[in-house]
Amino acid sequence: MVFSDDVMREKLPHDVYKSLVKTIAEGKTIDPSIAGVVATAMKDWAIEKGATHYTHWFQPLTGVTAEKHDAFISPVGGNKVVMEFSGKELIKGESDASSFPSGGLRATFEARGYTAWDPASYAFVKGKTLYVPTAYCSYTGEALDTKTPLLRSMDAISKQALRIIRLFGDNTTKRVNTTVGAEQEYFLIDRKIYEKRRDLLYCGRTLFGASAPKGQELEDHYFGPLKSRISKFMCELDEELWKLGINAKTKHNEAAPAQHELAPIFITTNLAVDQNLLIMETMKRVAQENGLKCLLHEKPFEGINGSGKHNNWSLSTDTGKNLLDPGKTPEENAQFLLFLAAVVKAVDEYAALMRVSVAHAGNDHRLGAAEAPPAIVSMFLGEELEAVIDSIVEGTAYKANKVGMMDLGVPTVPVFRKDTTDRNRTSPFAFTGNKFEFRMLGSSQNVALPNIVINTAVAEELMLFADRLDKVESGAAFDKEVAAIIKETFRDHRRIIFRGNGYSEEWEKEAAERGLPNLKDSVSAYKCFDLPENVALFKSQGVMTDSEISARREIFFENYSKVINIEALTMLDMTIHDIIPAVNRYVKEICEGIVAKKQAGFPDIVASVEKSLAEQLSSLNRNTYRLIADLKNAETKAAAEVDFEKRAELYRDTVIPLMKRLRTTVDEMETLTDTEHWPFPTYGEMLFRI
Ligand code: ADP
Ligand code: MG
Repeated sequence: MVFSDDVMREKLPHDVYKSLVKTIAEGKTIDPSIAGVVATAMKDWAIEKGATHYTHWFQPLTGVTAEKHDAFISPVGGNKVVMEFSGKELIKGESDASSFPSGGLRATFEARGYTAWDPASYAFVKGKTLYVPTAYCSYTGEALDTKTPLLRSMDAISKQALRIIRLFGDNTTKRVNTTVGAEQEYFLIDRKIYEKRRDLLYCGRTLFGASAPKGQELEDHYFGPLKSRISKFMCELDEELWKLGINAKTKHNEAAPAQHELAPIFITTNLAVDQNLLIMETMKRVAQENGLKCLLHEKPFEGINGSGKHNNWSLSTDTGKNLLDPGKTPEENAQFLLFLAAVVKAVDEYAALMRVSVAHAGNDHRLGAAEAPPAIVSMFLGEELEAVIDSIVEGTAYKANKVGMMDLGVPTVPVFRKDTTDRNRTSPFAFTGNKFEFRMLGSSQNVALPNIVINTAVAEELMLFADRLDKVESGAAFDKEVAAIIKETFRDHRRIIFRGNGYSEEWEKEAAERGLPNLKDSVSAYKCFDLPENVALFKSQGVMTDSEISARREIFFENYSKVINIEALTMLDMTIHDIIPAVNRYVKEICEGIVAKKQAGFPDIVASVEKSLAEQLSSLNRNTYRLIADLKNAETKAAAEVDFEKRAELYRDTVIPLMKRLRTTVDEMETLTDTEHWPFPTYGEMLFRI
């Protein structure tokens, strides 16, 4: 169902096809004269696939995708219509943008927004609609989406990487692409059970719930056999994804009960971002069709693992060479080490920015909570690479390959084996043979921003390296300068490399001594987004302007506050309308039992269990009642704060602690209340009834 390269070749006139492919491969602007031909071919193909509508599909700053469907129909008089799709309609769409977050980039009365075709991402048919992937901007041309800066960052890194590989003698490559494979974790629960919980309905996570007797401690779910209902879901999901041209490859059960994972085969980053969004959407739809609910939240359940997303990232030439592959010869090796140095320097210098790129309210439950990577960004390179780096920096012998002193004449850089990097699951950013795996991403998030940050930061470092290398003659002087850059970079940025246990307390202390940022929550992270060095980075690489940066910053804070606000209100709703009344009813029933026993003439001792239970529950219910008043107060105060930064702080510092206290009290009541009276399905039912 994809208007793929093969389909284009078949459906387009040869010269149009060639021109389009060139545009895509080299990241150029589309020639408007061919757009009409492409549009007609696309429409005819889409109609064959059953489409009646088209939509410009885009990624506003809501974190999810947006679409508005228009029929192909166009009246031709005499009560007749023809099916039409013009080049203009393909290239550019105009939509009322007033209800999307703009972070002040656009006043509501200036509602105009534009979508622009991204020819590098294939169009596809889903349902009865042709989907045209687009970028989205304001009337004045500012990016209102996640895709535009992503495409800019891909151009930036391509440009700088090309400069480097040219210096190493590559004259054929025309574009360097970043590639991404995003592993997606998710939960599946029974839909009927899901529908009975308003916290899941409104917030995607449980706000209450006492732990089930069993969690993940037996480690029996990870890679365990698939239950038939799950297996059926996964098969249907694979097929739906394959139809959309997404190479879903790996599927398995994850660590927590009811938790699973899907990994597609990696692809160019803008496609990977689109595909990940489609994967999440398709998961939800196929789950629904199977009487299941797919939960993509980072922390649907307390006490068991949350869900993340591993963003595997690498750099590859249009001729198919992976630039993060160590290679077989020392020459390749020097180039590899230079790229590696650029990534190390980028992550060290922009660690805070990387942390911002994964910060959202849902992910705060994972990062630093001893299950997922810590909130501190560090890198793991594996023993062998670290030994190489040590020997480069110290100028000592590199033992493994016995090449003698590393005096850093490039040819003496050793050849090392691939796949010697063991896995360090606690590292947020790990080198895994020929790519980096960024593990801090939350399961629900759009992967664009983390990739924008990595691409841009690495582009900047490559630019600085290329600027230096441009100044020297080729030959020995060049080799010497390459060696100097590698040595200096590893020497100055070694602090970001860490091999130990990222979850440990010692690491937190050590990281502080090394001067690495430790941004424990989203609000602290957001504050760093517009630090002068970060603004300078985005501007230097042409990825975001001042106003685009400050708009996103504002939206981060706003979104955080809104999420917590919805959670607080949902807790109040559930407590006031269901939990307190349920406990009261149960207590009343107990008390009726006490009265009945008394009337029957039993001595007091016979009703002692009832009395004690009723007393405990009444006291907990009283606390609950007090806490909801406090929570309501805190919520009202926070919501009324006009400064968006202070508002987010209030939610973090006053609302969240009360939500935690309320949950503890309610969960305790749950453990004391009989099943019939408890108004919501339990953890046991949600996690094990599949
Ligand atoms: P893990 O052991 O981390 O669970 P998986 O095999 O599940 O590994 O996932 C690895 C992911 O990395 C896959 O999506 C794979 O396609 C992707 N990947 C492999 N090579 C590259 C590359 N060069 N660039 C980007 N992603 C890659
Ligand atoms: Mg992984």
